[in-house]
Amino acid sequence: MRPMDRASEQVLVGCAAVVVAAGSGERLGAGVPKAFVVLAGRPLVAFSLGAILTVGVPRAVVAVPPGHGAAAEAALADLAGQFPLGLAVVEGGATRSGSVRNALAAAGDVEAIVVHDAARPLAEPELFTRTLAALAEVDCAVAAARVTDTIKEAGPDGLVVRTHDRSRLWAIQTPQAFRAQSLRRALDVTADVLAAATDDAWLVERAGGSVRVIESSPRNFKVTTPHDLKLAERLLC
Ligand code: C5P
Repeated sequence: MRPMDRASEQVLVGCAAVVVAAGSGERLGAGVPKAFVVLAGRPLVAFSLGAILTVGVPRAVVAVPPGHGAAAEAALADLAGQFPLGLAVVEGGATRSGSVRNALAAAGDVEAIVVHDAARPLAEPELFTRTLAALAEVDCAVAAARVTDTIKEAGPDGLVVRTHDRSRLWAIQTPQAFRAQSLRRALDVTADVLAAATDDAWLVERAGGSVRVIESSPRNFKVTTPHDLKLAERLLC
């Protein structure tokens, strides 16, 4: 076994996955929460949980919308039985980071946490492995795709104030892996700060922690619109 493999395995033993699936998915207009839209006979969230199982993460916590706990447990029963340390379903929060905080409370005494959006069903198992392995050196490691468009910043009047150096810009995705202690500390903030967080890595940055990008591809996109769902279906089925 290579030293890298051994290190990765040690991280996995003390690791839990948090899958945030508590969004309403209004923009999708599917009538059910986005994470539970069925693709090829499986709810969207099952694809992410399948990748997490393949990696060998022993436990998972899934945050679902209030009132959907029993239905989620029934829909995920088969997968739950495959996690050696179990799969828990918890009620999500009013914001994405609120959902992460609720799930973290149910993750137990772990050293590493990998957070993933249920809305990204195309994340490859190796992306989870690479973000977790980076925790040997940093507090947090996030999947990210290089920005290929030129990014300009404009004022409310539409006038461009700045053109950013594209070679240094990354579009941030999930999985995002954290040393559990850093994530707990970062999430210990007021509801206002939590609501302003579009990702949890920002909360770690804000608390002075180190965050590294791990190169991913645009294929790991977030399903937001009906068009995204059709594309995901073509790629997954
Ligand atoms: O809303 P958005 O598409 O940014 O959500 C990203 C992920 O966060 C989705 O998987 C969604 O289910 C989850 N989420 C959540 N709790 C919220 C809002 C979003 O778990 N309150």
